[in-house]
Amino acid sequence: MSIQGIDAASVHRLTSGQVVTDLQTCVKELVENSLDAGATSIEVRFKQHGLGSIEVIDNGSGIAPADYDSVALKHYTSKLATFDDIASVRTFGFRGEALSSLCALCESVTVLTATEDEAPMGTVLEFDARGRVKSRSGKAARQRGTTVTLTKLFAPLPVRRKDLEKNAKREFGKALGLLQAYALVPCSKENGGVRFTVSNQLDVGGRKVQLQTKGNGSIQAAVTALWGPKAMENVVTLDIAFDVEAERGALKRLAPTTHVQVKGLISKFMPGCGRQSSDRQYLFVNGRPCNLSKVQKAFNETYRLFNATQTPFVIADIILPTDTCDINVSPDKRTIFLHSESNLIVALKVCLAASLHSFLTSAAGGTGERVRILALNIQDQLRFFGAGARV
Ligand code: ADP
Ligand code: MG
Repeated sequence: MSIQGIDAASVHRLTSGQVVTDLQTCVKELVENSLDAGATSIEVRFKQHGLGSIEVIDNGSGIAPADYDSVALKHYTSKLATFDDIASVRTFGFRGEALSSLCALCESVTVLTATEDEAPMGTVLEFDARGRVKSRSGKAARQRGTTVTLTKLFAPLPVRRKDLEKNAKREFGKALGLLQAYALVPCSKENGGVRFTVSNQLDVGGRKVQLQTKGNGSIQAAVTALWGPKAMENVVTLDIAFDVEAERGALKRLAPTTHVQVKGLISKFMPGCGRQSSDRQYLFVNGRPCNLSKVQKAFNETYRLFNATQTPFVIADIILPTDTCDINVSPDKRTIFLHSESNLIVALKVCLAASLHSFLTSAAGGTGERVRILALNIQDQLRFFGAGARV
């Protein structure tokens, strides 16, 4: 076969499967759109663990009629216009490909939306597989906001659909895990607090609420809502700040040092106060849930100095200038590249140990723990933190 361009419809199908790889990315994209639309209430409804349908209902801005035609077209977005905007983007979305990808990956995609002007009447939009509006004539009662309904995720990709059917409960569990991360920080931080509800409905029986937060803007309240008041026992506020020196070879436009804040909650740095497994460790960069394996390792290693047998409960939002990280590493935006990452990690470890050490020496009041901590002399600490550390 000679070399030829792939037709647009095939390109669309080829690339969509990378944006939405599984149930959790599918639902995360919809929740992010609701957060970006300024919603203060978001409800996620799964049917048959997401095998039947997934619906996300919000009270955000709604979609204006002038945008109906472009809302689900690939790379159409209201959040970014040129590549350079990416250095300052604060919204969750910016690639304009979630809705278009979902149109290619589901049996059907329907949107019911109303702006402030149109409420209490909304418009029903139906899309074809390429994200073009095929019907806009439906009307239904709707307060301001948007409801996106997807049916039969992955129906057009038989292998992936089979896999989803086979592992439905596990995939649903993973989706809930990711939604918990959104409940903890984005729903506490964005739009002045977001009321967040996730439910599942099986063929028989009623709708069962899986998680619910009140959205009063407090991470502590979200933790209690997710896991009960016991989850806050032995947990302290994490609130540290430090400067990170730019590494050699860093972009010239970056300042020589970056001010970084880390806010959230963490297990007390004392024996018996952590957890047996690292199941409750949630990291965020500027409020965006993400995988940061090296930063996670830094938390665990530092914690181990104070509590050798356990790992900490961690919710840590790393707040730094938007131009010192790259959020456009993978289509699902779960991987974030941090400039000067190794310097950041050293500084984080030093700062964590120093602040939690002083917390301990004042709180432990001469117990065995305290003796153990004090026995960690500064040389040991410096060796642990690496040659580059400066306290
Ligand atoms: P992106 O979020 O990267 O812009 P999406 O495909 O996820 O791309 O969404 C495309 C556009 O549709 C968004 O930029 C936004 O303008 C609009 N949109 C999607 N979901 C909602 C929603 N729940 N409320 C209001 N507008 C929405
Ligand atoms: Mg989006």
